[in-house]
Amino acid sequence: MKLWDGASGPLRVAIVGSGPAGFYAAEHLLKQKDLAVHVDMFDRLPTPHGLVRFGVAPDHEKIKKVTRVFDRVAEREEFRFFGNVEFGNHVTLDDMQQHYHQVCFATGAQSDRRLGVPGEDLERSHPATEFVAWYNGHPDFRNASFDLFVARVAVIGIGNVAVDVARILCRTPEELSKTDIADYALEALSKSRVREVFILGRRGPAQAAFTNAEIKELGELAGADIAVVPDEVALDPLSQMEVDASEDPALSRKVAILQEYAAATRPGKPRTLTVRFLVSPIELVGDGSGGVAGVRLVKNELHQTADGSLRPKPTDQYEDLPVDLVFRSVGYRGVPLADLPFDEARGIIPNDMGRIVSPDTGDSARGLYVAGWMKRGPTGVIGTNKPDAAETVSAMLEDAAAGKLLDPNSPDPSEIDRLVAERQPAFVSYEDWKHIDEVEIERGKTNERPRVKFTSVADIMAELGRKL
Ligand code: NAP
Repeated sequence: MKLWDGASGPLRVAIVGSGPAGFYAAEHLLKQKDLAVHVDMFDRLPTPHGLVRFGVAPDHEKIKKVTRVFDRVAEREEFRFFGNVEFGNHVTLDDMQQHYHQVCFATGAQSDRRLGVPGEDLERSHPATEFVAWYNGHPDFRNASFDLFVARVAVIGIGNVAVDVARILCRTPEELSKTDIADYALEALSKSRVREVFILGRRGPAQAAFTNAEIKELGELAGADIAVVPDEVALDPLSQMEVDASEDPALSRKVAILQEYAAATRPGKPRTLTVRFLVSPIELVGDGSGGVAGVRLVKNELHQTADGSLRPKPTDQYEDLPVDLVFRSVGYRGVPLADLPFDEARGIIPNDMGRIVSPDTGDSARGLYVAGWMKRGPTGVIGTNKPDAAETVSAMLEDAAAGKLLDPNSPDPSEIDRLVAERQPAFVSYEDWKHIDEVEIERGKTNERPRVKFTSVADIMAELGRKL
């Protein structure tokens, strides 16, 4: 295959978004042996790493070690980071098209899916994604507030985010104080009066979206007992058939873990975390003063759809679960980017194996690509983004070889420097970030914490000696 011959310099690529998908795309691009590629990565926040910093739970420190891989990418001479620079505000699609041969969007899914039931917007009903961003010190959510002076909390949905939220609510102050949780969240959670947390799944144990390591961890909390309803973890015939037919041993293990919880005696720890199955919220019930007082649930049965999957079907049995705080954890959702097509139904940029396509004609847009959650939707773990980004990069290299590129007027790297410095003088380089990183780690040493995060852009700028 004849690659971009580099006659007019290296292939210049912009990546928008510095989370795992963006970094894995950069890694694939920069490891090409037959092709000189230069990557400029943009992020609207001054700190890189996206959901590794703002999504991964603070008590999952090991998962965050993936940033070492990202650091190795960022150390390359052919890589530059422009943090605190927002696409659609400081730089536009037109700017990108003037300066780069290719642009890859890896902005993730920055919003949440709606539940679509009455009462969803009552006070003390929050998207779980906001709680996660808050406890992880995301600058946009540091001023959010959650009433933790209540006793009973429901988390709706049964994926790994729901499990993260429930676990963080149940951790003791001692457990949390060893993590990089935002200082304000540590303080608020240390004073929490939460005693009972319910995770609500609409299907059965065999269809639960959480993974086995995560559900096992819930049985090992210092300050909370795990509970399940024995009838709800006993498999119905359709689920039993599904488990028996599955070639994935993790599925039967998942069911076994939950059934072991049903049989175990509870030690009587201060908090209880109950995982419920086969219940769907049909309404968040108000307390008469604008706040949530409970969740009205309908009990479900499972039925098989034409594609063979087991879906929930409501019965005529209802249950009122009194709770004073609700986290809706039914999935993230992408938000549209300026001047780019958007598939409203799926919350993604329409694409063909990473090539952005017109929703009307299906034709690919020259030089524009997408990777990660914005490409496939909010599914999979951090590592899922590696093959996903590799697929997008394959399309980029194929197009480069075929000469299907943007035709920038100003491909000289110093031109984009000048533009960014003019539009956003307070931009942050990777070197600046490494300084912030070191200071955060240093601040953590006194209390044996991995780091103490900066949570405001103003504080980061002050540390870097920059004006906002
Ligand atoms: P998810 O895994 O897609 O789970 C969403 C959950 O919401 C599912 O249980 C789904 O049930 C439920 N749901 C959807 N609509 C609902 C409705 N109307 N009523 C009731 N329940 C509803 O999403 P997520 O938890 O946000 O996680 C996103 C991705 O990040 C996942 O791939 C996850 O594994 C990953 N993640 C991984 C970790 C980790 O590795 N520790 C941590 C956090 C997140 P149905 O299955 O019935 O649709």
